[in-house]
Amino acid sequence: MTEAEAVVVGVRVRPFQEREIQNNSMLCISMSQKSTSIFDSAGKDTMFTFDESFWSHDGYEDDGTGYLRPKRGSNYVDQKYVFNTFGKRVLDNAWNGYHCCLFAYGQTGSGKSYSMVGYGNNKGIVPISCEEIFRRIANDDSGNSYEVLVSAIEIYNEAVQDLLIPVEQRPRKGFEIRESKILGVYIDGITKRPVESYKAIHDTIEEATTHRTVGSTLMNATSSRAHTVLIIEFKTVTSCSTRVSMINLVDLAGSEKVKQTGAEGERMKEGAMINKSLSTLGNCIEKLAEKSTNPKKAVLVPYRESKLTRLLQNALGGSSKTIMICALSPASSNYEETLSTLRYADRAK
Ligand code: ADP
Repeated sequence: MTEAEAVVVGVRVRPFQEREIQNNSMLCISMSQKSTSIFDSAGKDTMFTFDESFWSHDGYEDDGTGYLRPKRGSNYVDQKYVFNTFGKRVLDNAWNGYHCCLFAYGQTGSGKSYSMVGYGNNKGIVPISCEEIFRRIANDDSGNSYEVLVSAIEIYNEAVQDLLIPVEQRPRKGFEIRESKILGVYIDGITKRPVESYKAIHDTIEEATTHRTVGSTLMNATSSRAHTVLIIEFKTVTSCSTRVSMINLVDLAGSEKVKQTGAEGERMKEGAMINKSLSTLGNCIEKLAEKSTNPKKAVLVPYRESKLTRLLQNALGGSSKTIMICALSPASSNYEETLSTLRYADRAK
């Protein structure tokens, strides 16, 4: 990422799921270096170009049972590769004193949590980055000292909640976002936990995870209808100053359209709120990208139109860096949602 490049976008296609193979869903995505194409049922393609395209399989192979399974070919990209491409930039930015945001966007089941958190031994960007922070601190011989503070929040129905305090102790309407000349935009009263090791940060994330609001949709029983943000306040203390970089790692709520999940009542309201904050985020990123390619132009970024963008305002504007990973399903049955994710990603360029 160069100085001028404020927004970097990557797309990652996940492998087929068993259910999709059994439903005879076809592969509708192809990637070649930076270009990603999506094919409709008539074979007509729409092509996009992104900074990075992460592929998870390489065509099909007959596994001897009569099913054609996605093959792991030379294009196959694993968690470590995604970390090396994007996670490292996040840490480099923090060490260079920039704020940064890394988002995972996509419909439920497209692989956002896989990229961000990972499953089991397949650790995602968040745990690898946390490990790497303490490894870098341990190997640092600059004479500086470092402090790391962690907050974990959730935005559900436009209310900001602290995931490091139990549900029954939270204010019903959530925490207030305020602004001051010295601190910029901040969440009033949120827990900031000092952590001195990977183990401490890992335990903090586990604790936060158990406090999440889980609302199941008909598409995926474990999907979260909230945005979660892990905020790492990274302080570099030198002999004459303290520099603070905020690292925001954001697992966004599923981007699927409400009607597709068969939602009613409360679910409908959630869906409307999610759509509003995702579209505002898209608008902000689009404006920031416009600003970075055309610094002299007066561009209004609509941070105040959603809680998510408001609280990330410090880390989205100015010299901050934004990385977006858009998660894609490879299956033709998800064509419409995948196309809309690609369009969303495209706006950020
Ligand atoms: P989301 O967070 O978008 O709802 P998940 O991350 O839970 O989706 O992914 C859905 C399923 O697909 C999970 O079982 C996950 O393990 C699997 N998956 C997603 N991305 C990948 C990938 N790149 N490689 C292997 N499995 C993946």
